Amino acid sequence: MNIHEYQAKAVLKSFGAPVAEGVPVLSLDDVQKAVDTLPGPLWVVKSQIHAGGRGKGKFLEAAAGEKGGVRLAFSKDEVLEHAKAMLGHHLVTAQTSDAGKQVNRLYIEDGADIDRELYLSLLVDRATGRPAFVASTEGGMDIEEVAHETPEKILTLPIDPTSGVTDADAAQLCDALKLDGAAREDGMKLFPILYKAFIEKDMAMLEINPLIVMENGRLRVLDAKVSFDGNALFRHPDIVELRDT
Ligand code: ADP
Ligand code: MG
Repeated sequence: MNIHEYQAKAVLKSFGAPVAEGVPVLSLDDVQKAVDTLPGPLWVVKSQIHAGGRGKGKFLEAAAGEKGGVRLAFSKDEVLEHAKAMLGHHLVTAQTSDAGKQVNRLYIEDGADIDRELYLSLLVDRATGRPAFVASTEGGMDIEEVAHETPEKILTLPIDPTSGVTDADAAQLCDALKLDGAAREDGMKLFPILYKAFIEKDMAMLEINPLIVMENGRLRVLDAKVSFDGNALFRHPDIVELRDT
C-alpha cells in the first residue's frame, strides 16, 4: 500500500525527521489559507499522486501548461495560478501509464534553498534479508539509472537488526553522502530516525529522493515515498486510514 508524499512526511516528522512546513489542499478555495500559513518567499506546489517522477512529468490537458507536477512559486498569486493549472488535470510521469493520474490533491510546501540533492532509501535487502540503506550523492535522479551508469556512486549498507543503526553505520552513510559540519550532525541523527520509522511502521520501502543539503548547511527530507507491507497493516490502523485518499 502506498501513501502520498505529504502523508509520508507527516509520519517521518512524527519520528523527528526534518521536513518542511506544508499544507495539503483539495480545492482552490483552500489554497489562499494554506499559502498564508507559510512564510515564503518561495513556495512549491506539488501534485499528490501515487507515482514518482512528478517534477519531470507532463499534464495531458493544455490548460495545465507545459510545466511539470512540481512547480516553484515566487509569489502567493503564482501559487494560486499553479494550483488552478494542476488541480483536476492528469499528470503523466515515467511511473504512470499514458493516461496519467488525476491530480486531486496538492501539497503546498515551504521552498528550500538547495545546495546538493542526495539519494537515500531503506528497503529489505534480498541478498541478506536485512533492512538496508541505499545512499548516493546522485539525488534527484532515477536511482536505477545511477545504478546502471555509475554503480560506484551507490552504497548499499545492510543493518544488523539486533544492534540497529550504529554510530559506525551512520558515519559510513555520512561519508558516502559526503556530509560534513552541520549536515553531518543532522545525518548522524537522521539515519537512526529513519530506521526506527521503517521498522516500527513495517514499511516495505522508504525512499527519500532527494534528501537535500540546504545552503545553510542543514539536511532536509525534500521528497518521501513510502510503501507498506500489506501483511503487517493490521498492526497499523493509523496507516490503513490513509488508504485511497
Ligand atoms: P518527484 O520525485 O516526484 O519529481 P520531488 O518532490 O522529488 O518530486 O520534486 C522534484 C524536484 O523539485 C526536486 O528534486 C527538487 O529539485 C524540487 N523541489 C521539490 N520540493 C521542493 C521544495 N520544497 N523546495 C525547493 N525545491 C523543491
Ligand atoms: Mg523525488
